[in-house]
Amino acid sequence: MSIKILYVEDNPQNMRLVGKMLRVGGYEMIEAVNGLSGVATAAREMPALILMDINLPDIDGLEATARLKASPQLAHIPVIALTANAMHGDRERFISAGFDGYLAKPVTKNELLNAVAHFLSLAQTINTRV
Ligand code: MN
Repeated sequence: MSIKILYVEDNPQNMRLVGKMLRVGGYEMIEAVNGLSGVATAAREMPALILMDINLPDIDGLEATARLKASPQLAHIPVIALTANAMHGDRERFISAGFDGYLAKPVTKNELLNAVAHFLSLAQTINTRV
């Protein structure tokens, strides 16, 4: 069974593009098109990692991530912000909101797969350290 990654994204073009990249990496992508369904889908599917858009039609990616990180069941799942708002200072804002990492759009296949592999291996280390 392949590793499940949840992508929370309201732009169908980005969803398709990232889905293609993740499949090349051998991952299975689950989709959510807004923040609330992203949180609900995470709770239902327990993905190994979450990619999170920031500008979403309901709650934004910062709020969705804060809710994920407030949940004892979901807080351990790495969440990577994927956003076009690559302004100075954003990285700090995202990290303090609870994101584990940050990628600026447009993301390349190598950037994406490297980041995913990195955070999956970190999560693995943390989960087996007990
Ligand atoms: Mn968006």
